[in-house]
Amino acid sequence: MLALIHLEEKLPLMHLLRLCRFVCGVVVLALGISQSVALAETDKDTIIVTNSHSWKPFAFSENGIAKGLLVDYWKLFSEINNTPVEFTLSDWNDSLVAMQEGGRIVHAGLLYSKSRDKYLDYVFPLFEITTTLYVVNDSEELKTQGVVPGMVIGVVSGGFEEEYLKMRYPLVATMGFDNNAALIQAARNGKVKRMLVDTQVATYYLLQQENSLGFVPIERMYKKMLYAAVPAGNELLMREIESGIKNIPPHEIDRIKQKWLNTSRTTKIPGWLWPFIGSALLLGAASYILLLKQAVNRKTRALKALNSKLEEYAFTDSLTGLMNRRGLDRVFASKRVKIMLKRGQLGVLMLDVDHFKKINDKYGHLKGDEVLNNLSKALNNYLREAVAISRIGGEEICLLLPAEDFHDLKVIADYICSFIVPQASQDGIGLTVTVSVGALLVDKDGKETSLEALLHHSDRLMYQAKEAGRNRVMLGCLSSQQHHRYSNPVSV
Ligand code: GH3
Ligand code: MG
Ligand code: MG
Repeated sequence: MLALIHLEEKLPLMHLLRLCRFVCGVVVLALGISQSVALAETDKDTIIVTNSHSWKPFAFSENGIAKGLLVDYWKLFSEINNTPVEFTLSDWNDSLVAMQEGGRIVHAGLLYSKSRDKYLDYVFPLFEITTTLYVVNDSEELKTQGVVPGMVIGVVSGGFEEEYLKMRYPLVATMGFDNNAALIQAARNGKVKRMLVDTQVATYYLLQQENSLGFVPIERMYKKMLYAAVPAGNELLMREIESGIKNIPPHEIDRIKQKWLNTSRTTKIPGWLWPFIGSALLLGAASYILLLKQAVNRKTRALKALNSKLEEYAFTDSLTGLMNRRGLDRVFASKRVKIMLKRGQLGVLMLDVDHFKKINDKYGHLKGDEVLNNLSKALNNYLREAVAISRIGGEEICLLLPAEDFHDLKVIADYICSFIVPQASQDGIGLTVTVSVGALLVDKDGKETSLEALLHHSDRLMYQAKEAGRNRVMLGCLSSQQHHRYSNPVSV
């Protein structure tokens, strides 16, 4: 009973297994059918693209791989339109024969000609190419310009160049080659002295040769459009290609043209030249560094000059050109003044123009400026021995100068009052300028003194001169503070 029940339970399970096996079989069969249908469809869809195998840079075969501008173009066509393409590159004539045989085949690019029109339908102009007559770079050959009867010109068999020459120049003999590579090779070997080749093709081939100047272009023969073509009468394929080409964005075409037509010279540099190139580069770099260094030095010098000029401005009074208070500080800190202080040979003169305000009031501020300027110039001119002549206030000028004793200082102060100041005020308008001077002799005890102290004491002497009636000198000594008063010999 138990066994029976067990068998009954197992029966639906077996059915289920059988059903599964059936379903799997159906799925496998369906997959197989769909795959073969897909394969058949792929075969049906594939477009054969034909062209030359040696038409650099348009179409060529390298190690069995199709390359070139037209190959990239049709690859792009394939990608954008989701249409598989297969490249069959051959000798030029064979590519034309393949087109005559018909089928789902496209010629990647060729020129229009009447003879080709018989078995081809042209689709779209792809781009322009030019064709040029090249001549071996030999003075004898170069003498004959253009195309003349009897001349032998190398061409690719079946190429438009051949057809063109036969039609236009029936008296010219053509020497045919299977493809461009063979033609260029013959030219290099000297078998051909003249050849008619597409400019872009020749440029590409010739620039890749070491002897790139072996041939020279002498005449551009024509400029024509390169077309895609399908076998004549294949309307369906014609429309398919036409709409497919329209889907290609122009910038993509430009990119491909840029890639293949802007070829640069790939001349190999001989090994022995590398050390020279290296040395030249090193020499160039060294010269550049030297020039750079010189330029930096020049600029540094100019900058230093500018800096010292700016520094000078900072120490100079703009109205009179005398040094300002900062300038006086600098001089006072100098070695020279320190030695004079140590020896007790420094004299300080504090000058203040008398009644200067009246001059301004009477003759104007500009005249006042002129007086200050003239006085400064005169002091500069006549007191060459002065260590410093500094405008330290409006109409106050301080002088540091060597003075052994009171007599020295007195002589100089007198000279200023009686000669220099009158000199500076000779302006023909009857303007009389006088100054009051505080003259301080700094004896050896003053060697530790500050400029502040010297200015203070000389200022006090100057005010004493003012109080005593102006236009005079008041002498004093720093250490003793003993002031010697005397009257100015020049009458006011
Ligand atoms: P004292 O004899 O007592 O020195 O009389 P003072 O008039 O010379 O002295 P005060 O200090 O009363 O006047 C100084 C004048 O100097 C006042 C000011 O306008 C003038 N002053 C100061 N700096 C300049 C300047 O750069 N240019 C001109 N033109 N005048 C100036
Ligand atoms: Mg004054
Ligand atoms: Mg004053």
